Amino acid sequence: MFVANDQDKSVLAADAHHKITYTCPGCGQSVILRQGQMRLSHFAHHAGADCHLFSEGETKAHLAGKTRIFNWCRQNHLAVKLEAYLPRLKQRPDILVYWHHHWTAIEFQCSPISFEKLVERTQGYRTHGYKVWWILGPTYLAHKLTLEKVSKFAYFQKSLSLFVSFYDPQNDQFLIRHHITQDLFGKLKWQDYVFNPSKKAFTELFHQGGKQKPNFKQDSYREAVLLQHQLLGRYSDARLKRVQFICYTHHLNLAGCPWIVHDQNFKLPTGKKIPLEVKIEFLLKLQLWQKQFVSYSLLATWYREVTEGNPFQLANVTRPQLNIELNFQQFVQNLLSDHVLKTVQKQYQIMVLPRWYTDITQKLRHFPD
Ligand SMILES: [Zn+2]
Repeated sequence: MFVANDQDKSVLAADAHHKITYTCPGCGQSVILRQGQMRLSHFAHHAGADCHLFSEGETKAHLAGKTRIFNWCRQNHLAVKLEAYLPRLKQRPDILVYWHHHWTAIEFQCSPISFEKLVERTQGYRTHGYKVWWILGPTYLAHKLTLEKVSKFAYFQKSLSLFVSFYDPQNDQFLIRHHITQDLFGKLKWQDYVFNPSKKAFTELFHQGGKQKPNFKQDSYREAVLLQHQLLGRYSDARLKRVQFICYTHHLNLAGCPWIVHDQNFKLPTGKKIPLEVKIEFLLKLQLWQKQFVSYSLLATWYREVTEGNPFQLANVTRPQLNIELNFQQFVQNLLSDHVLKTVQKQYQIMVLPRWYTDITQKLRHFPD
């Protein structure tokens, strides 16, 4: 940590003196001052100290990142506080900055954190009127992005869709991993945007709609072939087997599933229940109601039933079930443009159901142009 107390005063480690005993603003225990030419001046707890505010070991990257972000804010004349202790919340964000009419707590996260802990901290900030921005450090960059990390650290914004933020203090670069979604088989995909911090870059990114357009190429033909390969593969995925089983019970062959399944994938991840399963199950529901008129809300209910038991939460997205809503809207759009659904007044009529093929050969022969 960079800030400790001398009696009632907060003191920066860089301005501290070795002869004085400083205490931790969180737990009140005395702390050690570390100064040297080779490292950033900072305070540390004695070994074995039990402190709820500084439980994470502060790595070099964590200290360096905090300093750089803090200095950047100061240079840009933003109101900013380093490690400000918020007594009402009993929390201490790495950085607190006033940006576009809001106090925002920046957490530069370098160590692992549980979902529960993260939600607790995020809620704490929010209920007291602070925004919170989790930025991930180099350790996170070095590891694969997983669904679990997305559910902890992702934010949603129209222009970026679902995104996770990273910062590497060593080369002073931000990386925004945006338009995060899953392909048909549940594999995460995204787009990267790298930039050096500047006021213009942040304003563009968060307040002017951004310029980041998704440009995923959708190759339905290849995907259909890939599905066939995966089904035949020796290491066939358990999730895929489950979908295959559902199809069997309906006397259908998953490899011959309708082309509409390969229409552009969902905007947001569906979670552990992969997009393929969600789409197939929803189509099977429609099958029972051929030629009938249904309301939008009934369709939505069916969709919700299909995604039930698939808790994919986004800790930093305030609108609950945003992912379910957006994916549903998109799927209805696909069904409308493929004439599976038709709007009649305020109702939806279920028209000709998309065709299932007996096998992949027959399916490929009917590849739509
Ligand atoms: Zn402490």
